[in-house]
Amino acid sequence: MNAAESFRDRSFLVVDPDARIRRPEDLMAFALDAGGRFQTIPKGTQVRIDAVKVVETGSRSNIVFGHATSVNGNRLFGWTSTRNLEGKFMNETIGAVSPAPGASRFGPNAAWARGSFLGQIELAAIVDAKLEIERLALSTIEPYAALVAAAARDGVLVTLNSGFRSYPEQKHLHDGFERGLPGFNTAARPGLSNHQNGIAFDIAVPGGDGNPTYEWLKKHATRFGFVRTVSKEPWHWEFDVDRARVALQAGTFMTPNVTA
Ligand SMILES: [Zn+2]
Repeated sequence: MNAAESFRDRSFLVVDPDARIRRPEDLMAFALDAGGRFQTIPKGTQVRIDAVKVVETGSRSNIVFGHATSVNGNRLFGWTSTRNLEGKFMNETIGAVSPAPGASRFGPNAAWARGSFLGQIELAAIVDAKLEIERLALSTIEPYAALVAAAARDGVLVTLNSGFRSYPEQKHLHDGFERGLPGFNTAARPGLSNHQNGIAFDIAVPGGDGNPTYEWLKKHATRFGFVRTVSKEPWHWEFDVDRARVALQAGTFMTPNVTA
């Protein structure tokens, strides 16, 4: 598996009836044919994606574009929004995020645990539940992909709301929570969140109990090394093979500290 660029291992079905091709020099503009009509990739076409570009369209929003060819590579279609493809590119990894030389403990790849800086870790960018970009520790991509694939085989969609966070990102979330700003949930002090060392995954399970994804995770996640570790946060799972095994053997999906 290509952990940092999972899309290279797959082909994708075009499901949008109006899957327009973009102009390579300006992906926000549409390509026209000689008659002035939008160029499109026909719905039902199976394509491969051989390159990806992300265009930011707002502070926390973006469009992921893919460069599409036929599956055998003989025909080049061009750039199109990955939202036109089955699955909308959710859970695809779209590139490695490596630490810059000399990056600091507050840099984008800096890992922390229990208030201490651990070092720089390799990350990969991944498309989340809202089609925004999150990052995960590269070392957790394969187990997460295995979890996603097993759920998919049971007809259940596992998607991410939050993965790895840098120190400044955790600080932003903690400050917003402390100040009671709208849209901010409980967030640990910067340096203390397991979202800063790559083991924490916030998975979309709206409503908790009864949510099909949550019910599936309760039954199966521990077999894939994922365990629930925070009270009142049914969405927060951690990739921790040892604690997941203990939970599995105890007939639960949670660590002992979780009370609700
Ligand atoms: Zn979390």
